[in-house]
Amino acid sequence: MQAKITLLPGDGIGPEVVAEGVKVLQAVAARYGHTFEFTEALIGGSAIDTTGSPLPDETLAECRASDAVLLGAVGGPKWSDPRAAVRPEQGLLGLRGGLGLYANVRPVKVYPALVGASTLKPDVLAGVDMIILRELTGGLYFGVPQGQSGEKPNRSGVDTMAYTEGEVSRLMRLAFELARGRRKKVTSVDKANVLASSRLWRTVAHEVAAEYPDVEMEDILVDACSMHLIRRPADFDVIATENMFGDILSDEASMLVGSMGMLPSASLGAGKFGLYEPIHGSAPDIAGRGIANPLATILSCAMLLRWSLGLAAEADAVEAAVDAVLAAGYRCGDIRTPGCVLLGTVQMGDAVVKYLGGKSDAT
Ligand code: NAD
Repeated sequence: MQAKITLLPGDGIGPEVVAEGVKVLQAVAARYGHTFEFTEALIGGSAIDTTGSPLPDETLAECRASDAVLLGAVGGPKWSDPRAAVRPEQGLLGLRGGLGLYANVRPVKVYPALVGASTLKPDVLAGVDMIILRELTGGLYFGVPQGQSGEKPNRSGVDTMAYTEGEVSRLMRLAFELARGRRKKVTSVDKANVLASSRLWRTVAHEVAAEYPDVEMEDILVDACSMHLIRRPADFDVIATENMFGDILSDEASMLVGSMGMLPSASLGAGKFGLYEPIHGSAPDIAGRGIANPLATILSCAMLLRWSLGLAAEADAVEAAVDAVLAAGYRCGDIRTPGCVLLGTVQMGDAVVKYLGGKSDAT
């Protein structure tokens, strides 16, 4: 197959981890006889520095002309002045909106080899394998009115949490479709005891659930969910929730796995096109040191192969290579455990490529 993939390395460790993702995709292409054409474009702080905009028009055009997008991360202290008119994160929000991506899929799977890297007890972590499905285009991050007004000492700020029936139903439908291919359970997370938008969410979620009688469905309030996520995480299959709740819960869930450096994600819209990115940020504290864990990005590449390119066997092979690398005891610093073999970013990418080729010795 031939595919065009746009690369948005971004800021901080973004370029470091994207380079390893590309290395693995190139190895997949060589091994399975595909041709992947890569084009690089600017986003985030590096785009602000070069063009003044966190999302230049050319970047959006490149993404629209491709089959899939692989993103590193955006942001960093250089661009974090809250008074700045343009911020790197605007690039991300603009990209999701501009590409019509409304659902963020975040798989959270605990690798047996990494149980020791989490702060939670091993018996709590056994069997954890869930997807957090986060709504991306509505809710508190986009509702209007939004902003600050007034003068000291009477300043005020406002954000609006708003949802339409259509936004909720398309996300819930995806949740049920995903659950059908898994353990057939959907947990819809809201705050219906307080928020009107959540009461709409719950009503629509149940209407969609009626179309999927083969899938079990439960409602949980977001505060209770945050507790159950660390008390009984293995009970969850697909968690579907609104934008900000999903943002927070997915970071919490990353700690089940031990590090944000292990968690991939896909942002999907109506067709097969998707934006794939690790859930972590630009990690300015370790950027440029060659120690960032590229596995979240490599696992995002596996999602890209499966969802946007329809290459399920190749995606399975990448995930199996990551499993094998971890089982063999290789680790980056963020998931290091006693007795492991410590690898840098590039070495970890090389190790995955070697295991992808069926080699058993990644050193
Ligand atoms: P972060 O995810 O960048 O880092 C949090 C901690 O996790 C840091 O200690 C970091 O070193 C570590 N970490 C993250 N990814 C890692 C990896 N692959 N390997 C090893 N360790 C890793 O979050 P932050 O520090 O809150 O944010 C830094 C910047 O990133 C901010 O400007 C923020 O706005 C931005 N950000 C961007 C995205 C994105 O691009 N999608 C997401 C979150 C944060």
